Amino acid sequence: MKEITVKVYRYNPGEDAEPYFETYTVNVNEGARVLHVLHAIHDEVDPTLAYRYSCGSGQCGSCAVRVNGEPVLACMEEARNNITIEPLNLSVKKDLVVDLVPTLETIASLKPSEASRLPTKSDIDAIKPLRSCIECLSCVSVCPAMDVTKFLGPTAMRQEMRLALDPRNIDDRITAAVQEGLFTCTSCQACWKVCPKEIQIPGKAIEKLRSLANKKGLTLPRHKEVAALVKETGRSVARTEPTFLELVNAEVIEPTGPVKATVGFFVGCMYNLRLPRTALDAIEVLRRNGIRVIIPKEQVCCGSPLIRTGQLEYLETLKQRNIDAFRFRNIDTVMTMCAGCGSTLKHDYRTPFEVLDINEILTKFGIEPPARLPIKATYHDPCHLLRGQGIRDQPRELIRQVVDLVEMPSICCGSGGGVKSGLPEEAAALGKRRGEEIKKTGADIVVSSCPFCEFHISGHTDKPVRNISTLLLEGYKEKDRKKKKNPVVH
Ligand code: SF4
Ligand code: SF4
Repeated sequence: MKEITVKVYRYNPGEDAEPYFETYTVNVNEGARVLHVLHAIHDEVDPTLAYRYSCGSGQCGSCAVRVNGEPVLACMEEARNNITIEPLNLSVKKDLVVDLVPTLETIASLKPSEASRLPTKSDIDAIKPLRSCIECLSCVSVCPAMDVTKFLGPTAMRQEMRLALDPRNIDDRITAAVQEGLFTCTSCQACWKVCPKEIQIPGKAIEKLRSLANKKGLTLPRHKEVAALVKETGRSVARTEPTFLELVNAEVIEPTGPVKATVGFFVGCMYNLRLPRTALDAIEVLRRNGIRVIIPKEQVCCGSPLIRTGQLEYLETLKQRNIDAFRFRNIDTVMTMCAGCGSTLKHDYRTPFEVLDINEILTKFGIEPPARLPIKATYHDPCHLLRGQGIRDQPRELIRQVVDLVEMPSICCGSGGGVKSGLPEEAAALGKRRGEEIKKTGADIVVSSCPFCEFHISGHTDKPVRNISTLLLEGYKEKDRKKKKNPVVH
């Protein structure tokens, strides 16, 4: 047996003016789950604690709660000392029990008819990745789009795709999904990352539904314009100023000191056409840290805007052009600095080379310490870096070398999934929420590592928004200034 102390959310809307936390200490067996701790509290200390469970074996989804802010199944999560247990971020009925009914009622059901046929083996195989939902609603509790729109949410979309694949179904589930907010999903991947059944809703349901919607002519007008631009120019944004690829004359940029590594640079549309100065800052940082950079000029859009919005006709052409651009130069490692491009190259391509984000490159090979700047920064985790590529610690490690870092919740800023272009009001609502979180930190600047996030957040905060490379370069410039002022005399 071991003793465990936990903090538990308590709230009875009929009696309590507001929620509060109660601390409990109980004895449980080694390896006990959070659910066992709740049983022990209820049976031995406080029988008024309300929580929900049924199977106790990860099959029914009833016991979903948040542990230290993360949705988990209480029956599967190992109990640790000093954890905080809260209800899912949904309407609370009492303590840890939330109201599931309003969401469950929105999930569509199969409507077979005499005319429909039974699923074949291949139909069942296609449906399989979508049917293991246990309706825990963890995904719904973290979906940013549901907070600011009437979007029915991730598991409702999962079910729409599941029904769309089922030949017994007679309804038009594609049109229904569009009406239920299919295009409001920002591709943040939060739903997938918290799903206890690991259902990949953004890729396996939402993008697939968007592709089917495209075939029915239901693509948003602005998304169609972006696809036409990609087809015409190879880029997803229009040229308004000299691009990064035009500003960089040489194809190979040598480092200032000894070569530690050679990488091909996949610059992406946003850094190439909207934020070329930021990409030039990155080149300076890489040169200073021994990274030789090869920049094939014929590279084009990675195709992410087409994949996220379900417009796949031209995708294979883009992929082949990009793969060839790096393959023909015998490049082993391709570096991205756009989180969306990195995630796309890593997951939607089959590349004959390794793909690494710039944060991975700089931390892998190590950087010269920059000077410290007397400011406080907060960091915005780009969804496609944190959840798309699992990169959390590396950016923080780099930022802490220059400034003090104050954390804020990792929430979506609203710029992804084609939402900023297709539904700007929704993107603005999420950007506003991000701006409010930034304000709460009291930071002087916001640092990020994705051009979409940087561009979008700039419109929703009065704090300067910097890319990590630019911040590092500022640290190096400060170091050089100090050296010049106080030269070392031998
Ligand atoms: S990817 Fe993000 S916005 Fe889209 S359904 Fe999942 S949680 Fe919601
Ligand atoms: S999709 Fe996953 S997270 Fe969402 S309700 Fe189903 S099991 Fe839970």
